[in-house]
Amino acid sequence: MTNIISVQSLKKQFQVAGGLFEKKEFVNAVLDVSFDIKEGETFSLVGESGCGKSTTGRLITRLIDPTEGKIFVNGNDIAKAKYSELTQLRETVQMIFQDPYASLNPRMKVKDLIAEPLVIHTKLNKQEREKLVYEMLEIVGLNVEQANRYAHEFSGGQRQRIGIARALITKPKLIIADEPVSALDVSIQSQILNLLKRLQQEYNVSFLFISHDLSVVEHISHRVGVMYLGTIVEQGDKEAIFNNPLHPYTKALLSSVPIADPTLRREKIILTGDIPNPKNPPSGCTFHTRCPYAMDICKSKIPDIQQVNSQQAVACHLVNSIQ
Ligand code: SF4
Ligand code: MG
Repeated sequence: MTNIISVQSLKKQFQVAGGLFEKKEFVNAVLDVSFDIKEGETFSLVGESGCGKSTTGRLITRLIDPTEGKIFVNGNDIAKAKYSELTQLRETVQMIFQDPYASLNPRMKVKDLIAEPLVIHTKLNKQEREKLVYEMLEIVGLNVEQANRYAHEFSGGQRQRIGIARALITKPKLIIADEPVSALDVSIQSQILNLLKRLQQEYNVSFLFISHDLSVVEHISHRVGVMYLGTIVEQGDKEAIFNNPLHPYTKALLSSVPIADPTLRREKIILTGDIPNPKNPPSGCTFHTRCPYAMDICKSKIPDIQQVNSQQAVACHLVNSIQ
């Protein structure tokens, strides 16, 4: 299967203070992130808030510019491309947001909201656009009578369906979905997740799914990357990550999630302490201040991510003893 996107050693540093005479301070929101997403695949980034998963999504769409690293879309590195050169990226990648209401213009009718990407990216006339909009409304589970209404007339779940229709209408290859169900009731969450799964099969679209919610990630993903303080600490097939987590941080995250298969047992690690301030991250392995297995080497040496079996890669100095 071909890679739709390939991200290599991505890094983003934000300047946070720095008036004229103030000392400049930096936050490393994304320290070192690499992954590929294949055609028709869902890759999820999961981690606590502030771990850099949303920033990674925004870097890939070039809503913000990376400090370092490469982002290959259809084989071309777009990490440093000028805004005017990003046409191909805009056609290939679309986004769905956590709060569809905030991202939908309240003064536009639903049919115009959904048609907007077609106006920007295609030369279709009004009639052709409307035909596609009406088809798309049905596909996402809305109906054509709702086309002339405004976003505020819809429920949260319906608004997310509008957001999905808008993202899908140009037939992108990749949709970045940043916490797309976390503002919705649990019963509505599963409807939207099932809709995304169905659309993936119909359109062979890939998803970069960003979520802090492990049960959502387990439901939707093929592969998973676990992020902590701007780094992917473990990456692999969904089944391997959930059934056999190897990194101490992944084990800690999963300790709060019930296991579906009663024959499996997972080691429980209860996380203590808060996530360190990303302005001043711990040296070496950034998880060492919270890790029950931390050794001397963890305080000074950053562990490289290493493939430990056919399904998983882990960044931990215990790597040789945890395989
Ligand atoms: Fe824990 Fe050390 Fe592994 Fe980091 S490298 S997760 S501190 S054992
Ligand atoms: Mg976020």
